[in-house]
Amino acid sequence: MITAPSREADVIIVGAGISGMIAARALLAAGLTPLVLEADDRVGGRILTEEALPGLPVELGAQWIGDTHHRMFALAEELGVQTFPQYDDGETSYQLAGSGVLRQNDFHSRFGAELAELEKVLRLLDELAAEVPPEAPWLAPHAAEWDSITAGAWYDGQGLSPVARTLLEICTVGILAVPTVEVSFLHLLFTIQTCGVTSELFAESEGGAQTTRFVGGTGEIPRRLAALIADHLVLEAPVLLIEHGAEQVTVTCRGGLVARGRRVIVTLSPTLAGRIMYDPPLPGVRDQLTQRLPNASAMKAFFVYDEPFWRADGLNGQLISDIGPARMSNDTCMPGDGRGVLLLFLEGDQARTYGRLPTDRRRGALTAELVRHFGPKAAHPECYVDGEWAERQWTRGCYNANCGPLVWTTFGPALAAPVGAIHWAGTDTATHWSAYMEGAVESGERAAAAVIGELGG
Ligand SMILES: Cc1cc2nc3c(=O)[nH]c(=O)nc-3n(C[C@H](O)[C@H](O)[C@H](O)COP(=O)(O)OP(=O)(O)OC[C@H]3O[C@@H](n4cnc5c(N)ncnc54)[C@H](O)[C@@H]3O)c2cc1C
Repeated sequence: MITAPSREADVIIVGAGISGMIAARALLAAGLTPLVLEADDRVGGRILTEEALPGLPVELGAQWIGDTHHRMFALAEELGVQTFPQYDDGETSYQLAGSGVLRQNDFHSRFGAELAELEKVLRLLDELAAEVPPEAPWLAPHAAEWDSITAGAWYDGQGLSPVARTLLEICTVGILAVPTVEVSFLHLLFTIQTCGVTSELFAESEGGAQTTRFVGGTGEIPRRLAALIADHLVLEAPVLLIEHGAEQVTVTCRGGLVARGRRVIVTLSPTLAGRIMYDPPLPGVRDQLTQRLPNASAMKAFFVYDEPFWRADGLNGQLISDIGPARMSNDTCMPGDGRGVLLLFLEGDQARTYGRLPTDRRRGALTAELVRHFGPKAAHPECYVDGEWAERQWTRGCYNANCGPLVWTTFGPALAAPVGAIHWAGTDTATHWSAYMEGAVESGERAAAAVIGELGG
């Protein structure tokens, strides 16, 4: 008879993304034994750094941190990962509302009134978001009203000019990675509130979420975290079943590994957490919640050139477009490396449309866009790399999960509330920078602290 392998630990952690590994590290520090079960053959989850060319890492997943990502700065320092500022010299290139391609200064003088309109709406969003408690958005004074409409419907009701409305959509889809008609207005306000204010969320410089990068790539963070918990980590162990009692959990993986512990922390996005089988079944409200929290749609595409030629033309490598196929781009060169790297973001409907095309057709459409903005040199990259997250079995879309109308107010309390011995973590459960690495770290720390409180450390 062949017996399935088994492991014992105090706490079983499902998922070796950053939240799971942070939780494991905190438990170890408290004298408890964690065991992290990871479905994939690598750690990091939505953080994925690959070499585009020898010595040139590109970030198919998370890339930046911002000035208020204090936990991530501290973690990088502790792990010895150096940071550097995002390149931001020069003008952004715009193509909006049939304007043709315009450089930033020309765009600003032509559309000054529309930009002022946009600014006014962003200030209003900041005011309304300040009323939303990030740990309980359903308790906001106007929660019922705000949760009954989509962000898109609210935007449409602001009497904006087409250019201001389009810019607002581009900014917002750049964060949520779904069209604004898919998201509840309350969820948009929650997202703003967890990050501070719209200027932190949308800006690339001066306090925005994308001011700072990691030397060697963001993948250095999970790689070094994994080294700290190596004896407590099993890869290629997809969790299929969690049997749970008041003081005991038994977790069964595909391949037969069985892990037993006193608590389990599940760090998957809500929709993936809902695909695990639970015995006894979870309360209906928790399952109904996970039925309603789809992951968004985004992908990144990188073009590598022998030099960052756009810089010499006074451009910062950023574009903003309502034509597409990408709405935004960035200069993502590595310091000390002479090669030029441009990143294009495909988000929401554009990720869905172009992500389903054969790579050469997607690359062709993106190349044409780059040539429009940065000139003919953009037509001849040394290499092209992209990544479609909806196709990845253990992620199934990104950047995060968004609540449609009535989800927060009807099911919200079930998002992070433990169910007996089961605790929930992962960036979607965070109250500060939810959807970001910062939120993932917060959630791992919170879940670990709760478990330590219950088990003693
Ligand atoms: C394209 C992209 C760009 C991004 N850009 C940024 C950025 O610039 N800055 C930023 O701060 N954030 C960014 N993010 C978001 C950031 O990556 C996430 O917030 C963060 O990494 C989430 O960590 P997590 O631990 O909560 O979840 P995950 O990283 O999703 O970890 C969950 C883990 O669980 C594993 N798993 C899934 N199912 C099972 C199962 N059944 N059994 C066992 N294991 C399982 C997965 O393989 C994964 O390793 C980006 C994400 C993407 C995809």
